[in-house]
Amino acid sequence: LTKNRYPVNRGDYAILNDNHVQFFKNLLDNRIITDPDECESYNIDWIKNVRGYSTCVLKPKTTEEVSKILAFCNENRIAVCPQGGNTGLVGGSVPVFDEVILNTSLMRTIYNINGTSGVLICQAGCVLEDLDNALAEHGLMMPLDLGAKGLCHIGGNVATNAGGLRLLRYGNLHGSVLGVEAVKADGQIIDLLSALKKDNTGFHLKHLFIGSEGVLGIITKVAIQCPPKPLAINLAFLGLPSFKHVLKVLKQAKRDLGEILASCELIDQSTMRVSTENLKLRLPFPEEYPFYMLIESHGSNTVHDEEKLTVFLEEIMKNELILNGILAKAPSTIRKIWELRERLTEGFVLDGYVFKYDISLPIENFYSLVPVMQERLSGLKDVIRVSGYGHLGDGNIHFQVSCREFSQEILQKIEPFVYEYTSKLRGSISAEHGIGFRKPKYVHYSKSPESIVIMKQLKTLFDPKGILNPYKVLPP
Ligand code: FAD
Repeated sequence: LTKNRYPVNRGDYAILNDNHVQFFKNLLDNRIITDPDECESYNIDWIKNVRGYSTCVLKPKTTEEVSKILAFCNENRIAVCPQGGNTGLVGGSVPVFDEVILNTSLMRTIYNINGTSGVLICQAGCVLEDLDNALAEHGLMMPLDLGAKGLCHIGGNVATNAGGLRLLRYGNLHGSVLGVEAVKADGQIIDLLSALKKDNTGFHLKHLFIGSEGVLGIITKVAIQCPPKPLAINLAFLGLPSFKHVLKVLKQAKRDLGEILASCELIDQSTMRVSTENLKLRLPFPEEYPFYMLIESHGSNTVHDEEKLTVFLEEIMKNELILNGILAKAPSTIRKIWELRERLTEGFVLDGYVFKYDISLPIENFYSLVPVMQERLSGLKDVIRVSGYGHLGDGNIHFQVSCREFSQEILQKIEPFVYEYTSKLRGSISAEHGIGFRKPKYVHYSKSPESIVIMKQLKTLFDPKGILNPYKVLPP
């Protein structure tokens, strides 16, 4: 249980014994998994990059149960790995050694949806897509949307400050999360569950939990501001000759579509082949292009939106910015096109091993890393593709190198170069996926020494024994 699979040493935590397990059983009845085969899937992350060997998965239903579990673990120095839908992409959601897994999948009560204010209050284990479906009955929707929506939990979304496909229009979770309830490492319940839009009574402590990746406390409830479901949705799918053209189209879309611009995604040709070749999905037109853009509009008036889209499309065609394009209005066509984008993470896994980087860069440099890395990795026979795609409208590229299997030689060619490159351009080495287990030693490329010190002081304040998600987020 204490062997080192990774270059980190196991902390000085207790090894789980029968008395510990009995305590959990008494508290949770049968909501505990100790069978090694059943524990297996909770120990491996979605992209199968990180794996732990926990022998105990706990599934509380209430905040009080979470509180009792943490108080006990804190007292007995048992390390805990908080886990939602386990779709995180930086290895934060699985144990590194034998940490007890506290999984929120049974915390899925929706307490209230207020159709007038648009405020949703629910438990942390609600699945994002279930919330979206429940809100639809009130004419509302979740302010965030990701390819993992069928699996990820709202608590996990808040803990990672997830971005996703609609951030351009609806902002990030620091804006839309109105309040949280969280449990500290010692079991203390912190009620920050405000449902108010305005509340300037001192520090906004909820923000500490948004993006804290399970190292400061366990989020148990969330209050979130949800926008009305748009009555008119249109999606333009475009083929373009170069990144220069992409930037011009982005500028035009911002100008012509204004407040209805909801999403602006970019996919390069090599990435698109993951969808067409690995996943056998079909492009809406037969030819391939160097770049593809998905531009979605959300509005309340079909005629008004169509007028805006017509002006936009006429303008980009007149200026010869695109090589091909279609405008999809039917929900089924829109869904099919989005599959090309949303299933990329799944498609990349079929290449074998994927080195994934989630980077923010100034917009002019959004794509510059890809050709630089293609050059740097040329000649390495195990590399399958070096490519980029992502949230162009937010300046957030997902840069990927895929190969048949993990290779130290390839890793050394990529890291730390990719972080140095990003840092020189004052970008962020983690735009939306977080730091997790994979990136703590690189945090300094994006955070000043002073802010790292404050992060560590906050960790000590919230979790003095360091039982919550050890080995993650904070640099060693
Ligand atoms: P988990 O993966 O279970 O956990 C993530 C982190 O949060 C871990 O550190 C965990 O310890 C912590 N955590 C989980 N629940 C809690 C809690 N209740 N309290 C405290 N800490 C907790 N991410 C994006 O930002 N944008 C995208 O567009 C996007 N697309 C994706 C597409 C696919 C196909 C996949 C597989 C992933 C994608 N992701 C994306 C990454 C992932 O879905 C998000 O990070 C998501 O928010 C994780 O939620 P989860 O419930 O799965 O959390």
